This record gives sequence, structure tokens and C-alpha cells, in this order.
Amino acid sequence: MLTLHSPLRGWCAPLDETPDEVFAQRLLGDGVAIDPTGDTLHAPCDGEIVSVAASKHAVAVRAENGAEILLHVGIDTVVLAGEGFQALVQAGDRVRQGQPLLKFDLDVLARGAKSLITPMLITNGDRFSVVEACVGVGVDVGDALFKVVNAAEDAAAAAGGAGQEESLSFVVPLEHGIHARPAALIANFAKTQAHEINIKAHGRSANARSAVSLMALGVKHGDEMTLVASGDGARSVLDRLKQLVLGISEAPHAGSADKAARSHVASKDSEPEPGQERAHEQRGASETTAGGVRSISSGSRLRGVIASRGLAVGRAVTLKAAEIAVVEAGRGIGHESAEFERARDEVRARLNQLAQHSQGAAKDVITAHLEFIDDWELVASARRAISRGKSAAFAWRRAVRDSADTLRALGDPRMAERVDDLIDLESQVLLALSGEAPTAIPALPERAILVADDLKPSQLVSLDATKLAGICLAAGGPTSHVAILAAAMGVPALVALGPAVLAVEDGAWLVLDAEQGNLSISPDQIALAAAEQTLASRRQRQQTERAAAHADCRTADGERIEVFANLASIAEAQVAVAHGAEGCGLLRTEFLFLERESPPSEDEQLQQYQGIARALDGRPLVIRTLDIGGDKPIPYLPLPAEENPALGLRGVRTSLWRPDLLRVQLRAILRVQPVDQCRVLLPMITDPAEIRAVRRMLDEVRRELSIGTPVQVGAMIETPSSAVIAGRIVREVDFLSIGTNDLTQYTLAMDRGHAELAHRIDGLHPAVLNLIAMTVDAADEHHKLVAVCGGLASEPAAVPILIGLGVRELSVVPTLVPQLKSLIRTLTVEACRSLAQRALGMDTAEAVRALANEPMTPARGLLPAE
Ligand code: PEP
Ligand code: MG
Repeated sequence: MLTLHSPLRGWCAPLDETPDEVFAQRLLGDGVAIDPTGDTLHAPCDGEIVSVAASKHAVAVRAENGAEILLHVGIDTVVLAGEGFQALVQAGDRVRQGQPLLKFDLDVLARGAKSLITPMLITNGDRFSVVEACVGVGVDVGDALFKVVNAAEDAAAAAGGAGQEESLSFVVPLEHGIHARPAALIANFAKTQAHEINIKAHGRSANARSAVSLMALGVKHGDEMTLVASGDGARSVLDRLKQLVLGISEAPHAGSADKAARSHVASKDSEPEPGQERAHEQRGASETTAGGVRSISSGSRLRGVIASRGLAVGRAVTLKAAEIAVVEAGRGIGHESAEFERARDEVRARLNQLAQHSQGAAKDVITAHLEFIDDWELVASARRAISRGKSAAFAWRRAVRDSADTLRALGDPRMAERVDDLIDLESQVLLALSGEAPTAIPALPERAILVADDLKPSQLVSLDATKLAGICLAAGGPTSHVAILAAAMGVPALVALGPAVLAVEDGAWLVLDAEQGNLSISPDQIALAAAEQTLASRRQRQQTERAAAHADCRTADGERIEVFANLASIAEAQVAVAHGAEGCGLLRTEFLFLERESPPSEDEQLQQYQGIARALDGRPLVIRTLDIGGDKPIPYLPLPAEENPALGLRGVRTSLWRPDLLRVQLRAILRVQPVDQCRVLLPMITDPAEIRAVRRMLDEVRRELSIGTPVQVGAMIETPSSAVIAGRIVREVDFLSIGTNDLTQYTLAMDRGHAELAHRIDGLHPAVLNLIAMTVDAADEHHKLVAVCGGLASEPAAVPILIGLGVRELSVVPTLVPQLKSLIRTLTVEACRSLAQRALGMDTAEAVRALANEPMTPARGLLPAE
């Protein structure tokens, strides 16, 4: 079977769409038609030139298998009598696939011919037929277009082989459905496959190579999705794509792997995550006219949605969005096509440069923009419009806005937020086309509070963060990239303040309270002074906490409590040390190598572990062996389909199921220098036999590496079974670490990712506390250390209870170390014990939480707050 490749860049359509009956009715043969945006016709395969028309508008090529291919540039182009064409080959020449055959002037053709549509067809259809034609997509030169089978192969195909369409349906397990990240992963996979893959859902279909089209399908958690492809090996391609989708981890972007703990802290402290607090209807005291906002009075207050928490006092810097003028008519197809490619190249190069210097949330934004700039469907749609005579700017804006409208119409806030990225990218390309500077961001004065209708992520990342005190947006969404970026930059932000905020004058004093959701405009001197005072004392408190964060942490009555950090990257290790962490109590190694198709090698792992050990500068490093499965699937290790993954192959069970991977990981851990800095932690232990099995392998690896020093091994207590027999488990290990996230999930039989149950899955439930108490007692009896590394340890309300239960080591979200250390210094062990005893005897989590949130008074046994 022969694959024919696209001879042109453009849009590939079925032959039926050719505006000429001879071609449309396949009187000359079967094939496809391309609406070109490029000006050079290339060879679709290796072969020999059979003929070049005298008027140079058509070329026939004979492939090595004998198939004859006619390439006919445009319709009725024969009337041009060669004008605008330049033949680069002649009859009898041997050509290689991709070799230029003809050049033509798109503008001359557009003026003089009926249509630019270029049929490519097989003229000896008696011997050959066309299969797997890829139509309805944008194509580039060299893309696979269709296959040609000869009669004998055709018969085999008809008997159930080559051309058969394969489909694979399954229910999408991803918590947020096919949003931007999964769509990008699918598109990247599809782009590397020769097969054309379509994805169907809700009665619609999308080309799998276009992330934007995939998002527009609006596939949500629990929806059925069907993958379709045809041809040899299609089944295996679909299987691999399915595994990829099922294996997509919903873990957050790098640098925020402690989401589980953080979101838990946020919900239990009733501190909403960005955006959970909705704007009240009171939308400011401005006067509005039919034409918009006219003025806003001094001392007025607007309510907004919290996008990034904090308090700021500063002067308004207003950012007026300048609409970029776009003309509809192009200045010639060739010119506009070239301009379009130049502008995209320019934006792509700038984004690639920015990507090298950014990390975390900023990097995520840039990665999304890089994905969209080459999105299959967006680019094809713009090229189609250019080939119809539109300007590049008009074509790009139309393509982007159509996609943005489709995403908005889904009514899914997560998808609608991606519209921000599309619109951002729209203006980046339009600016590049217009030759203007990429951003119109003003130079910021000190303590600037930016006021704008909306802000693009690219604008935010180009602002001077040291001068930016806050952000106020009339529009915007609380889960947008701007919100994530602002939080990562530590800049308080309110969004959805309404149009009234746009009436704020440049230089006006503002108090941005992104704790309560208020913006005070030109407050009076007393209010301003009060806000400055609050800000100062808050800074003072944080500074004091940070300054004291590096000292040993003891309770007020002298008990030593160690505060470690949970980590998932080298960058987080640096943050943790700067915040006074005494070591790493939990390295979630599964987050180090997300989204890979193959397992990380021993050396790759060693490099990461060693980097973290170095960043910790001698402090202890507890490395947890891979904890995958359940809510943490990993593409490079597709697990068998399970009815209930949380109760299936997870944690140490997966490692014992794939001992080859465990051995590589243990070797990497043991090779970290110095050897005694690392301890090994085993997740999801349910009985001592699992520990013995890992220990046997560990001993073998130590012998292989000639390591005499004993390596400390710990077990995670995160199943009720391990807590109940903690006394037997602890005999096998050097320390225990309680994973309250899973312990709570399994004790309460509530999925830790279940949105409806989120407010009930509470680690302060008395059943969970009793299991923690049993574990601590067992460890004490055997004089072994017990730590808590689950989300409960990061909750200020829970810390006194944990200390009261006997926990002496906490491993927490890195940036919370200073706050928790300063809290611990106000506690006495005796008071904590009596609090814990009362909590153990309560009936419900609510009751424990009410007790834990009672103000700290001497009467309750706690020292008063400082
Ligand atoms: C836990 O379960 O509490 C824990 C620390 O492990 P993870 O959150 O990674 O499952
Ligand atoms: Mg766990």
C-alpha cells in the first residue's frame, strides 16, 4: 500500500467539493481536493513525471507501484495559458517525495481562475483505489493524505484488513474532563501518528490533532468518548491513545503538588480558594450613563471575587485596552500567507524564549500559548480564510473568535477560562502582524495597583512584579491563569468588580482587600491610615514568623516539635529551606516524572533526588517510593482497568507488582550522596509482609552497590488496617508517617476527590483521630518516631490536637512552615493533651472542628495568642 503526501499547504476537502463536475463526480478518478495557501506544488511520492501540461497547470506522476497521480492546480486554470506558473520538472524526470514540481502565483490564479482548489487523484482507478483519505483538515506539505491500494490489496482490505475503521469508546474518568491539558496531550500524541484520529462525543467529532477542537467537544467527567481511526495498526494506535487519556494525571502543574494538602487546608479553615467567594451584587457607587461609567465617588467601595488573597494599599494604574484595527480584505493571498507565517514565527520565537526563563504557573500559560499558536484547526481555519482573499489579521481573529465562542458556549468555567488564552494569543499575533510592540503595559510606579477591564496572562508576566502591589479587574475569572499567576507571584487580586472599576482615575489611592473581597476607592485619610496599619502589622507578623522560622521549634513548655516540608521538586526544596523547613518529610516521587511515555531511568531519578538532597543542604530527605494508581495514574505505567482504582493496585502494591521499577528506584535512592541523608518511605502499607518484601530487595540492592550503611525505612499509615495493626508494622520499620489524606478517605469510605463529599471528608473526624492515636501509641511503645505528612499537619486548627495525640514531627506545605512554627510556640503539651482527649470522645467531625476553632483562651488550657 502506498501513502500519498500532501503536495501543498492548505485545506484538504473531499473531491465532491470541487466546483467542477468532472472532478466532483470522479470522472477522472478518485482522490481529494486541496484549497492551497502555499505557492509550490510538491511531489506526493517518489516516482516519475509522466507529463507536465503545456500550460503548466497540471502534472502527472507515476508512483513506483504503478499508480498514476494527477495534480491539477486550480479549476479552469488552463485558460491562463501558463501565466503565473513556472514548471520545475519535465516529463521523464525522477522525483522524490516532497520535491518541488511547480511554482505558481496565488494572486494571478485568484484573479484569473474559477477556483484555486487543486484536485489530486488517481487516474488508473481500474487498478488502484483510494483508502483512508484524510479530508476536512488543514494540511501541510508532506502530511499523509490518503493511501492507494492495488486491486489485490483491496480485496484483502475488504476481507477485514487494511482500510477498516476501528473505534474505541470509553467513559472519561478525568475529574475535569477534556480541558486544556488533556486536550494538548491528546493533540501532541495524534500529531506524531500517521493515522488520522477523530474523537467523537455528544454527537460531534473533532480532529484529534487540534487541542482547541477537542476542548470544544465539551467532554466532561463521566461522558462517553469514541476514538476513531482506520487502516493498518489503527487498533493499536487507539489503544495507546486510550491508555494515554486514562493515564492523564489530574495532579496540578509542577510546583503545586501539594494541592491535596492545600485545598484541604483551605476548605477546613474556611478560607476559600481563589474564586470560591463570589461577588456580592453591590457593584460600587459610581454613576453610570448609557454610554458607560462616568465617574466614581471618593470613599466608595466595590465588591469583587477573590482571585489571589491578600491586602494591598497603593495607587491606581489604569490600563486601557487598545483595540487593534483589522481590515478584512487581504493584499494578495501570497502576501497574506507569508505575513501570517512570519507573525506566527515571531510570536512562537518570543514564547519559546519566555518559556526558558519562566517556571510554575507562568510557564503553564506560555505552554498553552505555544500549543494554540500551532493548533491544527485554528491555523487551518485561518489559512482557509486567507485563501478566500481575507487579510491574515482578519483570518486569524475570525478563527480565534469562532473557537473562543464555541468554548464560551459550553458554559464550563474551566473551558471558558481558556478563552483568555486564546484572546491573549489573538492579540499577540495581531500585534506581530501590525508590527507594533508586543505589549502596551505602562512602566509601573512603586506600589502600583493595576486597574483594567481584563488582563492577559502575557501582560501580567511582563509586569515588574516588585512594583505591582495588586490587581483589580472589571471582568476576569477566579480560576483563570491570571488568577493562578497572581497567586504564584503573591500579588493580591480581585476580579469581576464590574465596569464601575474602570472609572477609577489614574493615581487614585486604593485599598484592595482580597481577604474580604472589597476595593475601597480614594478612602479618607483615617481609612487609609488604618489599612496601612493593618498591612504593616501583617507584614511585621510574617517577617517575625519568617525570622523565627529557622530556629528550633519548641512548644511553650519546651517540647521539641520538628517541622518538615512535603516536596515534589527541586524548586520546592529551595522554597522549603528558605521558609525554615527542617527537612523533607515526604518527597512525592510520582510527581517528579509526570506525563512521560517511558519510566524515568535510574540516572534521571538519581539526578532529581540528588538535586533535592543538595537543596536541603544536609537536612533529612524522606523519599517515598512511587505511589501511583488510584487518583494518581501515570502514562508510562498503564494499569489494568479496575472497577475501583482507589482499592486496587496502588502505592506499594503497584511497586511489588512491577518489582523491576521498584528496583530501579531503590538503586537511585541509595546512590544519593551522602547515603545517610535519605530515608525510604513505603506508601499504602496494609501489612508487615509488604515491608519485608521491599526490605529483601533493598538488601539486595545495598549488596549490589556495596553500601554498608543501614538505610532507614518507614511505613506510611494511611489505611485503617495499618493503623489497627500499627504495633506489628512498626516492628518492621524505623519510623512511621501518617498519611491523613488517604487515612481519612479509607476510614470514612469517602473518595478524597469527590466534589459533593468535599465538605464532609474531614481528617478531624473522631474515627480518624482515634486511628492516629492508636498509631502513635504503638510507635511510642516501640520507641519509634511517628510523623504526620498528610494535609491535616498543615492545618493550624489540627496542629494542637496532633501534638496532643503525641505527634512530634509534622511535614507540611513548605510556605506554611513559619506560621505553624509560630503557632506551636504558643502551645503547651499539657493543654494540647486535654484538647486531644476531648476530641477523641466527640461524635462528629463538626464537633471536633468547633472545639479546635474555639478561641485560644487560658480557660481552655491553651496560652493566649500573642
Ligand atoms: C496522604 O495520603 O495523606 C499522603 C500524604 O499521601 P498522598 O496525599 O500523596 O496520597
Ligand atoms: Mg496517600
